[in-house]
Amino acid sequence: MWKFLILNILWFSILFLVHFVGSPLSRRFILFIIFAAAGVLAFQNSVDPLGWAYYAVYSLVVMRTASRFRQWASARSDFLDGEIRFLSGEGAKQKAGLVERENRTASVGRKADEIFQIYEKARAMSQSRDRIETFVIFGEALAQHTRFDSLKLVMPAADRKTQGPDDQEVYELKASAFVGLYDRTIFLRDRTKIKGRLTPVEEKAVRDLWMKKADVYSEEEPQGLTVFAVMLDKKIFAALLLCGCRAAGDPLLTILTHSFISEMQRLKLYERVQQLAITDGLTGVYVRRHLMERLQGEVDRCKRFGLKLSFLMIDVDFFKRFNDDYGHLVGDVVLKHVAATIKASTREVDLVGRYGGEEFGVLLVETDQSHAAAAAERIRSAIAERAFTAYDEILKVTISVGCATYSPLRNEAPLIVEAADAALYEAKHRGRNQVCVI
Ligand code: GH3
Ligand code: MG
Ligand code: MG
Repeated sequence: MWKFLILNILWFSILFLVHFVGSPLSRRFILFIIFAAAGVLAFQNSVDPLGWAYYAVYSLVVMRTASRFRQWASARSDFLDGEIRFLSGEGAKQKAGLVERENRTASVGRKADEIFQIYEKARAMSQSRDRIETFVIFGEALAQHTRFDSLKLVMPAADRKTQGPDDQEVYELKASAFVGLYDRTIFLRDRTKIKGRLTPVEEKAVRDLWMKKADVYSEEEPQGLTVFAVMLDKKIFAALLLCGCRAAGDPLLTILTHSFISEMQRLKLYERVQQLAITDGLTGVYVRRHLMERLQGEVDRCKRFGLKLSFLMIDVDFFKRFNDDYGHLVGDVVLKHVAATIKASTREVDLVGRYGGEEFGVLLVETDQSHAAAAAERIRSAIAERAFTAYDEILKVTISVGCATYSPLRNEAPLIVEAADAALYEAKHRGRNQVCVI
């Protein structure tokens, strides 16, 4: 019985396993060999026909089942292969998507960083009260974002009234200045270090811009030169040159340049308001408060460095008569004439201010008593000698001048003013149109 069972299992296993052998041809060949061998063996052992039939049916069932199983297994394996291929394709796609998203996030991050840096620089520019400092901060910001050779800022020379490309100051920042051990304070401490020049091409571009009163001049090739006009009230007061920069249309560069230009406009307005606050509207000389502040400052300098200083108090003689005889408008012209003549008769460094109605103060820096007396006489005679026109009237006017000088006894601003006032009173008392020194 055991022998029968083992033989069956063995036969079953052989038939079943042969179905998983390589190609269909080799499978058929092996089965043929097995059946031939089994046939020979059966005939040699003369198996009874019933047993023979049993094994034949048994073998057919096993082979059929094995063949079904093989088909099922191969279909299953194809399906799994397909799944694996599909999933690995999906995986690759997702991986590519992730890489792309990562790249995009990194570039958005870089842009955000750039915008933040620009915001920081724009904020620093808006806090500055100095044009050159603003220019240097702009240079720093530009060097972080784009390539250029140099930046130039052209402004009319300080203390000159001319508004044009002549008498101009040029400041230049080279891109190479912003690499390595860059330090902003170096430029701000010694501004001569960034004084520059314009090339003939740049000179022409600035001149063209100034004449045409346009706000941008751009030449991509061969120089890569862009010139921006900095304007206020439709008047150009400065020009910005981007030399060797071919990224003129770049949005970040545009934002940066425009914020620099608007900061320059703000500073110009600020200077204008500051100037208005210290200037007398009628005569154009300083107001009393500013004159007194500067006198105090000069007195302090005299104490510290042992310098000299004199102060003139000037009053128009019989001014009331001009008002009474010709009206207040003519009186105003007299005041303007007197102020202009005083200014024209003093040095750039001296300070002229309107002290009261028709009284003027003049601060003569680093001037001793004898030189102050001479200056006072020069002013007096200039006014006494020159006739002027006021609303069809040709008039002449005289002034009286009191002169006081800084000394150990007169070493405070109010004492000096008081002394000059006393001297003026004395000049009036002595008959007017004269200088009295105290
Ligand atoms: P003197 O100084 O020689 O003694 O005679 P004065 O006529 O100049 O005398 P006073 O100082 O009294 O006169 C000053 C006049 O100046 C009085 C005032 O009406 C006039 N005044 C003051 N401020 C102005 C101004 O802004 N415009 C005009 N038109 N007149 C002014
Ligand atoms: Mg007077
Ligand atoms: Mg007076």
